[in-house]
Amino acid sequence: MPVDATLPYDDQNIFAKILRGEIPSKTVFENEFALAFNDIAPQAPTHILVIPKGAYVSWDDFSARAPDAEILGFVRAVGEVARAAGLVTSGYRLLANTGLDSHQEVPHLHVHIFAGQPLGPMLI
Ligand code: IMP
Repeated sequence: MPVDATLPYDDQNIFAKILRGEIPSKTVFENEFALAFNDIAPQAPTHILVIPKGAYVSWDDFSARAPDAEILGFVRAVGEVARAAGLVTSGYRLLANTGLDSHQEVPHLHVHIFAGQPLGPMLI
């Protein structure tokens, strides 16, 4: 079910539980700003989710409310995850679904990294 990204943060969402270690994940990267793990239902040969450590519902919430240091740290972490996974030469796609029309399903900001095959043109 898509989530309304304007609602307050729900600390029972699945990514909050992963951050607290209550649910396992296949971690590929972690620092003070971000955690990255493999998507449970990959839609490309490489499909990694990068989430901020802070409690932000969506890209909108994060970009409006997060301190500059957290935004910088998170953006750098996304790039670092891609470099560490060896994705730069072949390329990769970033996606951050935000709100109802995007079909965001988990109400904790996450950036998808898709890679590992030609992904074709973005149609929508
Ligand atoms: P969204 O549609 O942009 O919100 O994407 C949510 C993503 O989270 C989907 O690609 C799901 O496969 C993924 N996902 C949901 N639960 C888990 C989990 O427990 N571990 C890893 N990925 C998950």
